[in-house]
Amino acid sequence: MLWRLLLGMVLGYAAFKVYHKVKGSLSHKGKAPDAPPLGEPDTLVQDPMCRTFIPRREALKLSWDGKDYFFCSEGCLKRFRRVGPGASTDKEKS
Ligand SMILES: [Zn+2]
Repeated sequence: MLWRLLLGMVLGYAAFKVYHKVKGSLSHKGKAPDAPPLGEPDTLVQDPMCRTFIPRREALKLSWDGKDYFFCSEGCLKRFRRVGPGASTDKEKS
């Protein structure tokens, strides 16, 4: 008769563990460690050279004529420095 009691305890313990695992994984999903904090949305900025959208905090920033421009890579930033703003729109808008 003792084994039935033991089996019940083991099953109960297993169910308890599974419950906690599920509960834990659900609550972890709500706040991922590298998600941006609430109230500070990760705004996307557009690279004027290649027109890629990048998160603002990852973009390279360049101040030009009192205006801020954002770039996906140093290559785009250097190209922009060479040709200046407006040069990239010439080709596509004819
Ligand atoms: Zn780019």
